[in-house]
Amino acid sequence: MPTRRRLLSLTATALALPLIPRRAFAHQARDLGRWRLDMLSDGHLDLPRGFVFGGVPDALADRTVARHGLDGDALSSPCNVTLLRSGDDVVLVDAGAGPDFMASAGRLPEALEELGLSPEDITHLILTHGHPDHLWGVLDDFDEPAFPRAQVMMGAVEHAYWTDPATAGTIGEDRASFAAGAARRLALLEGVVLFDDGDDLLPGIRARMTPGHTPGHMSLMVDGDRPAIVLGDAVGNGHLALDAPDQPAPSDQDPETARDTRLSLLRDIADGGLLVAGFHLPGGGLGTIAADGAGYRFDALA
Ligand SMILES: [Zn+2]
Repeated sequence: MPTRRRLLSLTATALALPLIPRRAFAHQARDLGRWRLDMLSDGHLDLPRGFVFGGVPDALADRTVARHGLDGDALSSPCNVTLLRSGDDVVLVDAGAGPDFMASAGRLPEALEELGLSPEDITHLILTHGHPDHLWGVLDDFDEPAFPRAQVMMGAVEHAYWTDPATAGTIGEDRASFAAGAARRLALLEGVVLFDDGDDLLPGIRARMTPGHTPGHMSLMVDGDRPAIVLGDAVGNGHLALDAPDQPAPSDQDPETARDTRLSLLRDIADGGLLVAGFHLPGGGLGTIAADGAGYRFDALA
């Protein structure tokens, strides 16, 4: 018997095919050594300007918008999910937005399909943090686990924050729906493995606590001939966060802590020549970061 999920996906495919031409899904991939890394698009977010530039001095905001050719009103932010494969391990870092956050996101299942993978193939799902575009994809339309065979892993501090009933009352009005959405989804997930700063999650994959964007945000160091770091939202965009990394940003829940984290991360990345996989970085999200004037520059890999 087909599962309900498969029935839905067959129906959706059958309905969509005559209407939407199959898109050519260009994506970035690199063999790091032990791990092969692929970047998958979950779509994009349309963000109000204030979410990115609120509280930022006008001259800096205007210069950043002009320099990067950004639309000044609604900013489009790409969502790049990292996939790591080694032997039988198929590891997703973040689950994407799922069906209920924004119509422009939640495309991860299609991106997996274009690699010949189904949600059932995912063996591990590591969550960088509890924001909707990273977490809400853990459940499907039926509130069942979207990656039914995956061992879900999340930083212990981050998990405690989003499952604390007090969070909805302290996070602020703008993000109250984030708190309710995260709590509901985490309550439905069973057997989540919690980890701490410095823990080895899988061979060659180590957690690095990168707080500020959220209280327990985690990035992942991936060993290899050329080591990589999966940033999550610790470097939250390819413009302001790099041009002026010392500028506190409103998209971070604790802007001062996030700034300190970002400055230390960017130094380590540039000094160490790390490959970076950034959830909201442009050009697919995989590339390099180098010092550039008073800030940094991201160059996407082809
Ligand atoms: Zn986030």
